[in-house]
Amino acid sequence: MKAKETIKTDKASKTMDDIISFCKRRGFVYPGSEIYGGLGGAYDFGPYGSLLLNNLKNAWRKAVVRTKPNYVEIDSAMFKEPKTWVASGHVGGFSDPLAECKKCNVRVRVDKELGALGVHADEKMSEEELNTLWDANRKKVICQKCKSNNWTDARMFNLLVKSNLGDFTGEGKTPVYLPGEACQGIYLNYKNIVDTTRMKIPFGVAQIGKAFRNEINPRNFLFRCREFEQADTQYFIKPNENKEAYEKIREERFNWYLGLGIKPENLRWKQHEHLVFYAKDAWDIEYNFPTYGFDEVEGIHDRTDYDLQQHMKYSGVDLHYLDQTTGEKYVPWILETSVGMGRMFLTFLCDAYTVETLPEGGERTVLRLKEELAPIRYAVFPLVKNKPELVARAKEVYEVLASEHMCEFDDNGNIGKRYRRQDEIGTPHCVVVDYQTMEDGTLALRDRDTMEQRRVRVEELL
Ligand code: ATP
Repeated sequence: MKAKETIKTDKASKTMDDIISFCKRRGFVYPGSEIYGGLGGAYDFGPYGSLLLNNLKNAWRKAVVRTKPNYVEIDSAMFKEPKTWVASGHVGGFSDPLAECKKCNVRVRVDKELGALGVHADEKMSEEELNTLWDANRKKVICQKCKSNNWTDARMFNLLVKSNLGDFTGEGKTPVYLPGEACQGIYLNYKNIVDTTRMKIPFGVAQIGKAFRNEINPRNFLFRCREFEQADTQYFIKPNENKEAYEKIREERFNWYLGLGIKPENLRWKQHEHLVFYAKDAWDIEYNFPTYGFDEVEGIHDRTDYDLQQHMKYSGVDLHYLDQTTGEKYVPWILETSVGMGRMFLTFLCDAYTVETLPEGGERTVLRLKEELAPIRYAVFPLVKNKPELVARAKEVYEVLASEHMCEFDDNGNIGKRYRRQDEIGTPHCVVVDYQTMEDGTLALRDRDTMEQRRVRVEELL
């Protein structure tokens, strides 16, 4: 099939506002609790959004678990013994520096505001160090809401979200936290996995789990939420055998995005300049989001044995690994990949979202998603609604295809409009039952990207 050559693509006009309104209009993402005026930092995935999200999770699982014999997946409880978060460092140090506008009480993240002025600050600095930098620069920061530049001092604000689970007295002495990150469930189960499966080092454990962060300033749509999902892998290796494996994992993760259609010019690496004391290396995969520009989608971290050492210390349980062949005993090092599902979703959606000028005039919006990611694989239409035999045959075709693929039946409006609706949600194929179908059994198969049609039999689509 040959693409119609006159289609022009108009990418320059794409903004994040276009994406956000598209997501709402076509049932991909809704603002959380919208009928009550919304809740900051929470979003709901609508019917097409849930399908895309699940397809992304499946594509991720396929790459990191299903095709790797030495990886397993787990699904750990969100609530964890509170010491987990002490051991992980979240109770003591999972904080963002916050300052408030003295006039209108708007809160900002001091490290981000300083960063925008070209002054480096990060979460590893003490409150005092940050305030020295903040003092020298705070007058240059203009409040987005009231335009004043009168800020409080910076103070550290812990991002962990507390629950009252099991707190029947209401005193909240030992709060059970919601997970600040999903990966802790993997560390807590590392020993169980070694003891109950045949995994031998090096092996990996994958998990998709919810994370909650009391983000000071949830913003940028799905990019920074207070509730989100993380897809993590933790690869357990022998100490000092990190370099080669780390490079391989980095390469695989970057190529995964490219293989699923992300345009190479929109993806890049960023190495962390300031590492936490135990880390050997850390890189982020960044995507060039419309309006926001390049920012982190996935982090890939070379973490040494810090996580297991901490849990060994706080739990008192021996987490050494015994190599049955050599007799060596050690605490494994860990290579981590961690991606927010919302940021991954936004990456694929933004990259696929295209507005095209059509040869016959007018425009169409098309989500150029890879077939395996598209929310709907086949849309089935009778050519016209008022011919019962066409409608009945189209329903039969729909049932056959729906037994294997996510499909949609549509007999509403003219055929051109039905194509446009499917283009917009990224459906790669529209199948039309027309008069010829009634004569020779073939169906018209229309391709989303080229808009060309050919005749097929339903069996060919299965
Ligand atoms: P950032 O610097 O943007 O706050 P981070 O470095 O704290 O992110 P990690 O703790 O390494 O992020 O989390 C791993 C991944 O989880 C990130 O790469 C990102 O995709 C996702 N993530 C982190 N915080 C959020 C959030 N508030 N909303 C949505 N996704 C997030």
